[in-house]
Parts: sequence; structure tokens; C-alpha cells
Amino acid sequence: MKRKTYQGLTFRPFIENEEIRQRVATLGKAISADYTDSYPLLVCVLNGAAPFALDLFRAIDIDAEITFIRLKSYEGTSSTGSVKQIMGLSEDISGRDVIIIEDIIDTGHTMTRLQADIKAMNPSSVRIATLLFKPEALQVPVTPDYVGFEIPKKFIIGYGLDIDGKARNLNDIYVLDE
Ligand code: 5GP
Repeated sequence: MKRKTYQGLTFRPFIENEEIRQRVATLGKAISADYTDSYPLLVCVLNGAAPFALDLFRAIDIDAEITFIRLKSYEGTSSTGSVKQIMGLSEDISGRDVIIIEDIIDTGHTMTRLQADIKAMNPSSVRIATLLFKPEALQVPVTPDYVGFEIPKKFIIGYGLDIDGKARNLNDIYVLDE
């Protein structure tokens, strides 16, 4: 796998698609086992979590639903700290077992806000699945229930994660080479 360059920055290969695939399969099995008596609703946070959410959804072998929401808090390679509202959640989630699907938890501000907004809609439970988790970057306590990979505090692209709109279509995950 070759290095990639975007906006004059160099990224090196970090997690190959095959490793992602295996990890997603394991998470899908875990969710299937945890929700055997339920009919969970996966809430995918667009745009970044789309590849992960769809692969995870297909790795779940019990009946489940998926829906998509939007929000944004990041520009370039550093957090702006501002979190926007949820857009696009048309389902009535009251009484549902909701699993929020994120691409990455960095400072944790986005997930804290999102979790609170979802809980305010009276679901019967809320859990968090994230492809990537940077524990060292957390500024507020967030405990994801399903984690693809714990990673260091570095900027990541690929498999849904972008740099100013680019690189989401890479099948592998790359890290900024500093
Ligand atoms: P938090 O609120 O946890 O700081 O940030 C969450 C959001 O920031 C993620 O959903 C993602 O959009 C963006 N983000 C955080 N870290 C990275 C990263 O390493 N790479 C990219 N491309 N986006 C990131």
C-alpha cells in the first residue's frame, strides 16, 4: 500500500481493509448476540460513518433497522469544537433500542451532545458503536460500547473519514505522517 498525499500532507497506511472487515464481522456478531430479543435501530451519523455503518449492518444477522442522520463539527485537521443539531431523523425512536454508529470519537464532544439529544427522544436504550476511538484525545467522558479500533491521537483518513471532503472512498485507513 502506498502513501497518499492530500492538501500537501502525507498519509501512511494504517489499517488495511481486510483487518477492518474482520473486526466489523466480530462487532456484528457481538451486536447480534446482545440484541437477540430486540429489533435495534442503527442510527448512522453521515457522512463519515456510512461505509462502517453499512458494513456493520450487513454483519448483523438478527432483524435490525438502519437510519441516517447528519451533523458536523470538524473542518480540516482540527476540531472546531462546535456541534450542530441532528438533521434528518424522521423515525419515532421512543421505546426503541438505538445504536449510534460513528466513524470516530476524538474529543468526545460530538458524541456527548448527540447521545443527550437522542436520549431526549425517549428510546428504551442507547448504545454507541464507533469504528475508531482515540482515548487520549477525550475531553469529556464517553464510553463507547462497541469499538472497532482504539488508536493514538492522530489524524486519520479513509474508509469514510475525509480530509476536506476527500479520501472517504479509500478502502483502507491511513494516518497523517508527522
Ligand atoms: P469529536 O467531537 O469527538 O472531537 O469529533 C468527532 C468528529 O470529528 C468525527 O465524527 C469526525 O467527523 C471528526 N474527526 C475526529 N477525529 C478525526 C480524524 O482523525 N480524522 C477525520 N477525518 N475526522 C475526524
